[in-house]
Amino acid sequence: MTKTEIERAAPRVPDRLKIAYQLPQAYGVKVEILIKDALDPDCDERLWVPQGEGVAFRPLVMSASHGYFVNILRVRKAGVLSRHRHAGPVVATTLRGKWRYLEHDWIAEEGDLAFEPPGEVHTLVVPDDVAEMMTLFHVTGGYIYVDPFGEALAYEDVFTKIAAMRRHFDAVGLGAAYADRFIV
Ligand code: FE
Repeated sequence: MTKTEIERAAPRVPDRLKIAYQLPQAYGVKVEILIKDALDPDCDERLWVPQGEGVAFRPLVMSASHGYFVNILRVRKAGVLSRHRHAGPVVATTLRGKWRYLEHDWIAEEGDLAFEPPGEVHTLVVPDDVAEMMTLFHVTGGYIYVDPFGEALAYEDVFTKIAAMRRHFDAVGLGAAYADRFIV
């Protein structure tokens, strides 16, 4: 429908606020995605990509074009998880359990939101009394894993995440291409 046709049809539409956008999306606009039950802690176990003993992530949005990723980190062990430097900003919303950084005096608990500035280095710890922690992380850029004096040891970014989820989905029978639905 052209704009003129819509103008003509307007009198038959009692409330124009209630009609959908009538024009095609702009050229180059990507296809949207919807992930059902994204925060469901009891989702299909195959959706959890293992990343070490007692640690897994559930991919939600993997932005290869903008270099960020949204995922839920699930940790089922206590202690120091990693020390890392952020190349970009991170927003972390705790869904279950609690965690903290050795460098700060706060504890992130269920319902809390933390902003982690680019350039910050911190050491993630899950307290001993936590059986399971789940946190929704929106990570821009990547992690550089470092020793206590800032020496780089390893890195992780949206591309290492995509590779890990493709390997995992293939291994559990969903097929590597299952990962495509999370990549934007
Ligand atoms: Fe961090």
